[in-house]
Order: sequence, then structure tokens, then C-alpha cells
Amino acid sequence: VRAIVGVAARYRIPIVPRGAGSGLSGGAAAIEGCVVISLERMNQFLEFDPRDRIVHVQPGVINADVTDAVRSDGLWYPPDPASSAFSTIGGNIATNAGGLCCVKYGVTADYVMGLEVVLADGSVVVTGRRTVKGVAGLNLTGLFVGSEGTLGIITSARLKLRPRPAPAGTIVAFFPSTAAAGRAIFGLTAARVEPALLEIMDHTTLTAVDDWKRMDLDRDAAVLLLAQSDVSGSGRAEEIIAMSRVFTEAGATYVAETLDDEEGEQLLAARRLAYPALERLGAAMLDDVAVPRSRLPDLLAAIPVIADDRGVLVGMFGQAGDGNMHPTIVFDRNDDESYRAAGLAFDDIVTCALKLGGTATGEHGVGLLKHRFLERELGAAAVGLQRAVKRTFDPLGILNPGKAV
Ligand SMILES: Cc1cc2nc3c(=O)[nH]c(=O)nc-3n(C[C@H](O)[C@H](O)[C@H](O)COP(=O)(O)OP(=O)(O)OC[C@H]3O[C@@H](n4cnc5c(N)ncnc54)[C@H](O)[C@@H]3O)c2cc1C
Repeated sequence: VRAIVGVAARYRIPIVPRGAGSGLSGGAAAIEGCVVISLERMNQFLEFDPRDRIVHVQPGVINADVTDAVRSDGLWYPPDPASSAFSTIGGNIATNAGGLCCVKYGVTADYVMGLEVVLADGSVVVTGRRTVKGVAGLNLTGLFVGSEGTLGIITSARLKLRPRPAPAGTIVAFFPSTAAAGRAIFGLTAARVEPALLEIMDHTTLTAVDDWKRMDLDRDAAVLLLAQSDVSGSGRAEEIIAMSRVFTEAGATYVAETLDDEEGEQLLAARRLAYPALERLGAAMLDDVAVPRSRLPDLLAAIPVIADDRGVLVGMFGQAGDGNMHPTIVFDRNDDESYRAAGLAFDDIVTCALKLGGTATGEHGVGLLKHRFLERELGAAAVGLQRAVKRTFDPLGILNPGKAV
């Protein structure tokens, strides 16, 4: 990597770092005249220390392989994007990937202790530490996390591990309205329940899944909520009962619970099929907005109005516990008018999220897709400072130019 970057710097050739290429905002897409550096085959485990609960890996290691490698020691790497079976640790760090269990366990940034990074001039910097605590100097590791390949190329990462939680109990509930589902989400907070997962699917999405897989979902429901508890011992059953009570009091029309792992997986399958089920209806434009949890019902109410206004179909699913929704606009790729309407609905949804105090991207990153919203979200001063940081790290502007900042 150093050699390639050194040559690229000499001849001012743009470089695009790439992991598995599963990113959803175009961050790893090649640009005119660039060199793409694929880190996919830098996939070695460099160190595993169960006493310090640390694993040190190269960037091309697949996310799920980290968890598999430490499982027999009772340890776990929590960040679990739905792409965990194929996305790389380097890509996860560069996008600060989130996932299903982030509602309880946090995002990728919470698990990166230190990095080795090749800088834009071909030199190498090592950031971070291997101690639990440590406050010496500025947090350079944090600056690289989520930088989408614009500040340096990650060539190794030291990751924090956690003890593996107990197998989860799962609960699914159907609601007659988004307002009732909103009450249920707030009800969990009020009851001081901390689910290990809290996912949501709207009517359009759950009927798309049911049409495809015939899972016996309640097709009259406006919203489905799916939650898990991984508290150990008897606490798990108690938490599931508490969630069931909250959901019923909020107006759920049907609630089902299981402490069985396999049954839980079957219930989760419906959620995992959300995006492919919507993709079966036409070309899909996937959004990734997040709002403060308290404003989630407002977002859920506004999106169908936007869909109506623009004359498009929008299915909604996402991490209710994080306020992170993936409204998916279904359109006809062969119809210019339909494509245009989908683009306008996409922009309306982001604008709505920003008005609600939210963000244009909860986990997929800015990439090429969300540039135009950056200044509206962060303000000119903050964006100016970010560009100054970018220039400090990459004065020639050769690292993933035109992406992120
Ligand atoms: C089915 C599906 C489900 C998904 N679910 C989730 C989800 O739940 N949560 C979520 O957050 N995302 C999700 N994603 C998006 C994607 O998987 C994540 O963004 C992931 O982190 C990208 O990893 P990658 O290895 O594919 O990186 P790539 O797509 O190859 O690259 C992503 C970005 O990281 C940069 N990059 C890659 N490697 C390096 C490196 N070593 N050094 C510096 N920069 C680098 C690239 O330049 C690019 O900007 C999903 C995608 C799919 C297809």
C-alpha cells in the first residue's frame, strides 16, 4: 500500500480505497483516472489476546470472521451491519458502520482502539492504544473512523471485544398505526427496558415480505416491531414479559414471544428480507436517515405524505431503537418520469429528517450520494473545518477525491 500510494503521490494520481465494495453511498466507486486499491486480500489476523479482549486484524478481514474467531473464548465483536457476512473491517471502520445490535452496544467507532494508516504521501502512522483507558493527545483514531477513505488507507486495526451475551429472547408485535408503534418505542424507554435489538417495518414492507415468503405476517397491521433481550439468566424472560406488556398497552393487536434461539432467528428472517422484498417490486433507491428517537413518529408519519405527493411507493424499515430508518423508494428504471419522482422523494425525505433535527446518513456514509446535504446539516463553519483537516492530511487531494467531505 505504501509503495502504491508513494507512486500515486509522485504522479498525483487519485486513489480509491476499496474493501468488499458493499457500501451504499458510492464511497468505493472508481473515479476518472484513479487507481483502486483493493484491501480485500489483506485478510490476516495479526494478534488475538483474550486477556486484554483485543483482536488485531488486517483491513480485508470479513466482519463475521472476527466474531467466529473469538467465539470459543466466549468473546464477541458487537458491530453487526446486515452485511457482516461479506463486508470488511476496513470498510466498516471507514464508514463507521452500524448494525442491528447498536441500540444496546454502540457502533463501530466504539470498538476501534487503534489503527495503522498509510497517509497520502506514503508514510505510515499508528494511532490509538491497547489500554482500556488513555487520553494522551488528540483522538486521531476517531478522526479516521468514518472518514470514507479520504484521510488515509487503513492497513490494520486493533479492535475491542466484549464477553458474548446470552442467547437472545425475541418478541414480535403488530400495531394498527405508526402512532401506536411510537408509543411502544417510548414505552420501552419509560419502562427502563434496554432491548438488544429494536427493528421496525411498515405495512408496505411487511406485505412485500409476506407476498414473497408467505410468513403469515399480519397484513392488516400498519407497523411491525421486532425486539430482542439478551439479559442473562431469568432477567431475559422478565425483560421479554416487560416488553410484551409495553407493546400491548401501546395498542399492539398481536404479540408473539419466544426464548428459543431458532424461532427467534425465524422471526428475524422477516426483517432481513425487507430490502430484497422491496427490490422485487422494481428498482429500489435506499435512503438512510436518522432522527432523534423522540421524533421517529413524526418521520414515520411524514414519509407516506411525501410518497403520496411524489406519486411513488416507499417502504420503510430500520433500527427503531436508533431512530435510523431506511425508507426505500421503489421506481421504474425504464421510466424517466418515475426515476425523477423517486429522486425528488429521496431529497424530500432527507430534508424532512434534517428539519426534525436528524442526519442525512445514519450509517451508510456521505460518499457520492449525500454531498449536497452536508453543509445544510453541519453548517458552513463545520464543513470548512473538515475540509481544512482533509487538506492537512492530503494536501494534494489524491485520496478518494470528491467523496465524503
Ligand atoms: C445487504 C447490505 C446490508 C447492509 N447493511 C448495513 C448495515 O446494517 N449497517 C451499515 O452501516 N451498513 C450496511 N451496509 C453497507 C456496507 O456494507 C457498509 O457500509 C460496510 O461498512 C462497507 O464495507 P466494505 O468492506 O464493503 O467497504 P467498501 O464498500 O469497499 O468501502 C466503503 C468505504 O470505505 C472506504 N474504505 C474501504 N476500505 C478502506 C480502508 N482499508 N481504508 C480506508 N478506507 C477504506 C472506501 O473508500 C469507501 O469510501 C449494507 C450493505 C448491503 C449490501
